[in-house]
Amino acid sequence: MPTETVGTMIIGGGLSGIYAAYLLSQRNKPFVVLEARERIGGRILSPEHQGFFSDLGPSWYWPEIHPKMAHLIQALGLKGYRQFEEGVGRFQGPDGAVQAVSGYAMEPLCWRLSGGMMALVTKLCEDIPENAIRLNHPVCMIEKKFGGALVSVGELEKEPWTRFSTNKVILALPPRLAAATILFNPDLSHNMTQAMLKIGTWMPGQAKFCVLDEEPFWRQTGLSGQAFSQRGPLGEIHDGSNNNQSPYGLTGFVGIPAVQRNHQQLLTEAILSQLAIIYGKPATHPTIFFYKDWARERFTATEFDQPPMYEHPLYHPPAGQTSIWDGTIHFACTETANQHGGYLEGALTAAERAVINL
Ligand SMILES: Cc1cc2nc3c(=O)[nH]c(=O)nc-3n(C[C@H](O)[C@H](O)[C@H](O)COP(=O)(O)OP(=O)(O)OC[C@H]3O[C@@H](n4cnc5c(N)ncnc54)[C@H](O)[C@@H]3O)c2cc1C
Repeated sequence: MPTETVGTMIIGGGLSGIYAAYLLSQRNKPFVVLEARERIGGRILSPEHQGFFSDLGPSWYWPEIHPKMAHLIQALGLKGYRQFEEGVGRFQGPDGAVQAVSGYAMEPLCWRLSGGMMALVTKLCEDIPENAIRLNHPVCMIEKKFGGALVSVGELEKEPWTRFSTNKVILALPPRLAAATILFNPDLSHNMTQAMLKIGTWMPGQAKFCVLDEEPFWRQTGLSGQAFSQRGPLGEIHDGSNNNQSPYGLTGFVGIPAVQRNHQQLLTEAILSQLAIIYGKPATHPTIFFYKDWARERFTATEFDQPPMYEHPLYHPPAGQTSIWDGTIHFACTETANQHGGYLEGALTAAERAVINL
């Protein structure tokens, strides 16, 4: 099996892994990013339609409380715009009846990114050498060796495809996913494995939709686009439009658990009927419909992540350790951040910590 030698190995090409790569690049340090999927971004996913990028993963950042995000967006020359909230909200009760409500002002103020949240990742990549990011490279095993680690790529059941020898590893994937899918040799301690498995990944039990239209028909009738429903299948809806120009859109979360989301066609029809009940008939025929069920994404969710999480956990490094194997492996995913864990801000915080501690 071929073995390539690299300085630092970053496992995971989500925001934390790509930001760690960007920081190493700025310091002229050699590294390689191994990304399991055929794309970078991880939980960030922004499909394009008519030059507009809808966010099927994160869409919001909060400049007032997330300073690293605000600073990075500005430093990279990207532009944000306020989440549209003007007008009347909708509330759908368990019996399906819809009533107008004054709307729930989002506090602190929510911002969206022009170009979709993926613009952040794409822009960071401009400063990363092209051949440093290897797509379709799922890591299956990490072995400790003198002065570093051996990282194997492929499937554990079969012969791994390729191997990397490295001094340092930045583990930029959710700790629960790492403990459930990567073989560590020698074994991690029982305490560490349990701590990693117990850190619930943020949002993988969710499914999100975006619909786009030429006209903001809900705004034209005084609606903000914001709605909450106790009936379902959608639980929470927001305006998901371009910045005051076409295409206009609605976006939000499916409120029913992952086990009940098996029939996508039926679910799509139910989503469109519900949108029509809440916003009127034009909602039945959007120009485009995007949908992503994160619970079915093997490089995000494990079986433990299928039930929805209702409360935002207080995140911290697993078992209080920011690294393992005497500093050979450093945690960098958002779920290992001491502050803002689970959010994009946490991904930046954890990546920065890993790079500083290398
Ligand atoms: C629907 C949804 C809505 C959200 N909304 C918001 C929001 O509005 N604002 C906000 O701040 N946050 C939000 N979040 C959370 C936000 O998406 C995350 O905080 C952030 O994207 C995490 O980045 P990360 O790099 O730490 O992890 P990830 O994005 O999970 O990156 C991990 C990477 O590791 C890769 N990987 C996995 N296994 C392997 C392996 N074996 N080998 C190699 N690579 C592997 C994955 O493919 C992935 O690219 C939302 C998340 C979801 C799903």
